[in-house]
Order: sequence, then structure tokens, then C-alpha cells
Amino acid sequence: MQQTAPSSTPLEFDALVVGAGIAGLYQLYRLREMGLKVRAFDAAGEVGGTWYWNRYPGARVDSMSYVYQYWFSDELLNEWDWSERFPAQPETERYLNHVADKFDLRKDIQLNTRIAHAHWNDSTRRWTLTTEAGERFAAQYFVSCSGMLSAPVVPPFPGHEKFKGQIAHTARWPESGLDLKGKRVGVVGTGATGIQVIQTIAPDVAALKVFQRTAQYAVPMKNDRYDAAAFAKWREKYPEFREKVHHTFAGFAFDFELPPYRSLTPAERIEALEKLWADGSLSFWVGGFTETLVEEDINEEISNFVRAKIRARIKDPKVADILVPSAYGFGTYRVPLENGYYDAFNRDNVELIDVRATPIERFTENGLVVDGREFELDVVILATGFDAGTGALARMDVRGREGCSLTEMWNKDIRSTLGLQVHGFPNLFTVAGPLAPSTAFCNMATCLQQQVDWVSDCIAFLRKHDKSVIEPTVEKENEWVTHHDEVANATLMMRTNSWYTGANVEGKPRRLLSYIGGVGNYRKFCDEAKDSHYAGFEVA
Ligand code: NAP
Repeated sequence: MQQTAPSSTPLEFDALVVGAGIAGLYQLYRLREMGLKVRAFDAAGEVGGTWYWNRYPGARVDSMSYVYQYWFSDELLNEWDWSERFPAQPETERYLNHVADKFDLRKDIQLNTRIAHAHWNDSTRRWTLTTEAGERFAAQYFVSCSGMLSAPVVPPFPGHEKFKGQIAHTARWPESGLDLKGKRVGVVGTGATGIQVIQTIAPDVAALKVFQRTAQYAVPMKNDRYDAAAFAKWREKYPEFREKVHHTFAGFAFDFELPPYRSLTPAERIEALEKLWADGSLSFWVGGFTETLVEEDINEEISNFVRAKIRARIKDPKVADILVPSAYGFGTYRVPLENGYYDAFNRDNVELIDVRATPIERFTENGLVVDGREFELDVVILATGFDAGTGALARMDVRGREGCSLTEMWNKDIRSTLGLQVHGFPNLFTVAGPLAPSTAFCNMATCLQQQVDWVSDCIAFLRKHDKSVIEPTVEKENEWVTHHDEVANATLMMRTNSWYTGANVEGKPRRLLSYIGGVGNYRKFCDEAKDSHYAGFEVA
């Protein structure tokens, strides 16, 4: 869709959706099916969201393909075969483009358009969104589907303008790609993204310098390939999966199904852990022993199991000392899946640099300096993560009642109601906003669809009852934040510094960004709000 010329009179819609990734595409589809006049926006040049931006080498989904998809159309489910258990970025991007084409969504999506301001008008009771180019759009509902991991964090290393090579953030990877063959490459960051990059490029580059601040407990990924016959077996399970994913802890088709850890003998515990390990998926984490997340001594035993697995893969014990995590417990930082990551450090062309005690000092024209040593590099890859949960919305100038700024509010205290609405911001819906499982503890496809359905049902309710505004009361919001914190503080998650707690962004208020009471429980809270005709919300 073409951009329109800046105008002082906004174009009028019923709803404006920001983001054209998994959530935004489905939100556009649902609202349009309900008969609303909708426009969606995305800063990217194509649809796909995360799967458009994160096109770095090795980018891959780590939810199983057969549950990382839309459930709303049987026709779509029947015509799309996934080729792998964990598909690579291009396949997922193709799928989302296919969905956009099949449901003729593109005609209502304005690409290459970043929303700079979103202001609520108390007298017209409408939102006005202004793009960076100055175009204006107004609507009754503003649905943000702008992603929980979409605002990249770039560390402020001094001297980057002097560097003669290339610098690329993994979440802003050039669409035309980056030729790394035979180059001297540095990777900063060893989270889920850095791990995928490192294991993929190690065999191709001349020299790879990995700058690690925090070691990870990565679990091996068992990535089966499917032909049509093999995939048909998964399709048979769709009716079961479609229902089950909404009630498990993390939105997968598996759950915490093991007996209590203490009820097993030591041999039985190891047997259970080995079985989970062999599954090669996130089931080792959110489908294993539920005590992992709450009981310190059990967490330590499971951490030791993983530490031994990692150590056994690395030839040089000194390198293993750096790569094996010790300072925090397994599963309290997002667990990555790996496929050759640890083996990469057995290669002669790969060097691991510990930047925990001696941080990266600066760029020079030739590379990076750590502890006075200059590492000469042609390309520096920043796999340095995101301002998660709040970043995408906080980087927009979102103002609610009486001009209240969402950014200023979240800079002091990150609050929401069910992660879906915020007191003071009527008719703003925050899909993948903070304090819902969709921020981190969920197979995203499950949680985003559940949230989009909640938003759509809420708007349908307002229209049916001739109401125009909905906003959570301050009491309702307090209730949710208190419950969220109680659940979070009963776990080990708050003890670890990572994006989960906002610790990766300087000055960000500390709170577990994601609701950790489970996807099934969260859904009950959302259903209760709907079934009670939005008790605790002001509806006018
Ligand atoms: P991340 O987990 O936040 O990791 C960022 C890395 O950069 C960390 O190792 C961090 O170290 C390091 N870092 C940041 N600033 C640094 C500095 N100044 N000096 C040295 N190191 C620095 O980000 P991510 O790897 O992009 O992953 C974010 C999330 O995206 C994942 O947890 C996951 O949920 C999602 N993801 C999913 C997939 C998938 O499904 N396939 C793939 C990739 C990512 P510290 O830990 O010490 O801060």
C-alpha cells in the first residue's frame, strides 16, 4: 500500500494496528472479519515482524513448527506442510507472506511506515497516530502488535564511527545479506541469537572472536526433517494440539508432566533428565520438572546435569570454564537451543573472549579492544538483544488521558492489566505487552493468538452493547500487578540478570516482564474478564 501525503486532517478508521508480524496479521484479519475499517502499519518493507527483521545466519524458530502456526483456518492448516521440526527463518517468513496473500491482508497494510506518536483525545474519544513522515490516522481503537522483542539494544561502545569494517545488529540484518566468507568476524553476545549465529558461521569465516559476558545453558536441538508423509502424522494431531496448547504451562503441546522430583530415586531422576535431554527441545526446561523454577536445591542439581553435558563437549578445559555457566541457575534466563554451538569452540579459527570481568572498551578503526588487546575484525555482529516487553511501545510517543505518557510511566514502573490494557490509556490494546506470558514464557504463536482473540472479542462486545470506550480501573490494574509479582517472587527468576527482568537495559525498572503463572492460568483470568462483561474495567 502506498503512503499518503502528510495532511492535517487524519484519515479515519475504526481500528489501527501497529505491527504486521504474527500478531498484527491475525489482528487485522479478525477485525476485518468483524466488519471494521482497519489499517495496519509496519516499519519493515515486508510483513513478518520478527521473521522479517531477524534474518541473520542461522535464525530459526525454537518452538515446534506444528504448534508455531495459526489455528484459525482449516484450509491454511491443510495446505501448509512444514519441512522441519524447527524451521529456519526463510520458511517462517514465507509462511507469514503466504498468510498475508491468502487472506488478502496486504491491501490494508501500510509498510515502510513507523508510527512516531499515538495520542488519545479525551473529547473525541479517539486515537490519532502520526507516522515519522507526518501522515495522520485516527481511530477508536489502537491495537499495538509491535512485538515483545523488536526494539534492539545497541551497546554504546565508544569509537564505533571510527571502525572501518561493518557493524550489524542481528535484528537489523541487511535484506541483501552480508558476505562473511573468509572474513574476520566478531560476535558480541551469546544469548539465543548469538548462539545461532556462532554455530552457523564458524565453519565459513576466517576467524571468529566470540565476546561472551554471560555463559548460557544451551540444550541440544533435535531438528527432524519432514517430507509430506512424515508431516501428515503431525497434521493428524492438530485437533488435539489446537486445544491443548492453550492449557499447558508454556503454550506447547507438552507440559510439566513428571512426578515430583523428590519422589524419585537419584537414578530415576537422571533417567528422566536423560530422556528429556534426548527430546532435543525446550521440553527439558518447561516440560520437565516444575521444581526447576522454584526450588533452589533441585535447580542446582539440574544445573549440574546440564553443566556436565556442556563440559563434555569442549576439548579445552580452560574454554569450558568460561562456557559453563556457574553464576545463576538453569532456566532462570531464557534457555536457548543449540546445534553445534559448543563444538564451534573446538575449532582452531574460533576464540572465546571473556568480557565479564574486563568489558569491551571501545572500537578502533581496526576492531574492538578488550583489556588493552586489540582484536582486528572485518565485521562486528551485535547479538546484544532487545529492550523487551516495553521497548517497542516506549519508543513511540504514546499518550493517554490528559496527555499522560506511557514511556514516562513505564520508565518508573512497568504496569498493565493482564498485559493487554493499561490504566490511563482507554481503547489501547497491548498484544505482547508486559506482564502476560506472551512476553517470554510462551510458544509465541499460542499466546499471540489468544491475546488477539481477547482483544477482538472485547471490541465485538463494545460494539454489540453500543459502548465506545474501555479502560481498566486502577484497582483492577493493582490486582493484576500484585498477583503477577506474587507469582514472580515465588520463583527463582528474579535472582538472575537478563532481559527477563529488564536488567539488560540501563535504568529499566526491575520486574519480571512476563507472567509466569502459566498460559492455561492466564487464559482463565482473561476468560473471566470477558465472561464477567469486563468487571474491573470502565466501559462507557
Ligand atoms: P539476549 O538473550 O538478551 O542476549 C544478548 C546477549 O548480548 C547477552 O549474551 C548479553 O550479555 C550480551 N550483551 C549485551 N550487551 C553487551 C555488552 N555491552 N558487552 C558484552 N555483551 C553484551 O538477546 P538475544 O540473544 O537476541 O535473545 C533474546 C530473545 O529472543 C531470546 O531469549 C529468545 O526469547 C528470542 N530468540 C528466539 C529465537 C528462536 O526462537 N529461535 C532465536 C533467537 C532469539 P548478558 O547476558 O551478560 O547481558
